[in-house]
Amino acid sequence: MRKALLLFFCPLFLLAQNKEVTIVMQFADGFSPQALQEMQLEAERIVSKAGVNLAFKHRHEAAQETYNDLIFFKLTGRCEMDSFPPLLDERGPLAFTFTTDGRILPFGEVKCDRLRDSIKTAMSGADYSQGNHLLGRAMGRVLAHELYHMLAQSKGHAKGGVAREFLSPRQLIAEKLDFSNHDCAFIQSNGSKSLL
Ligand SMILES: [Zn+2]
Repeated sequence: MRKALLLFFCPLFLLAQNKEVTIVMQFADGFSPQALQEMQLEAERIVSKAGVNLAFKHRHEAAQETYNDLIFFKLTGRCEMDSFPPLLDERGPLAFTFTTDGRILPFGEVKCDRLRDSIKTAMSGADYSQGNHLLGRAMGRVLAHELYHMLAQSKGHAKGGVAREFLSPRQLIAEKLDFSNHDCAFIQSNGSKSLL
């Protein structure tokens, strides 16, 4: 009887354990503290639904310590809102994850200049008063999108939500954007694997 109970409860107990992931950030060209704070809150909010807790460290803070599940993100470009008109001819991804031999690595990059120009096309005059807040929200969403690839170990995309292939400027700054329940289950089913 005692054994049967343990067999029944253990899987539930294991599922209830959140995965702890440390994100090490390296900013190449400066950032707004407000955008950084909002990026962290938004990414944490999105991935917590999939049972993942995030801790953020700057590269110099993380150098002395060791972590089990570590993901490195380089943030290139200036991660700060400005009032210049967007460069509409700039193309390319807003963020990406590195792979080698088809394997998804725990290394990603967020392109702040591209992201800033992208969301400007969906911003109106009043939005600029909270420009760094919106830029941080967009940064958090593309970061969560790349985390989806890394945690689920999948190059695939979802039909909707944060894990869809293309996030429009409007979706990047909209009030809310999440993983679907299916995406959360997908991440959790692969989340027991080590990232390296
Ligand atoms: Zn993707």
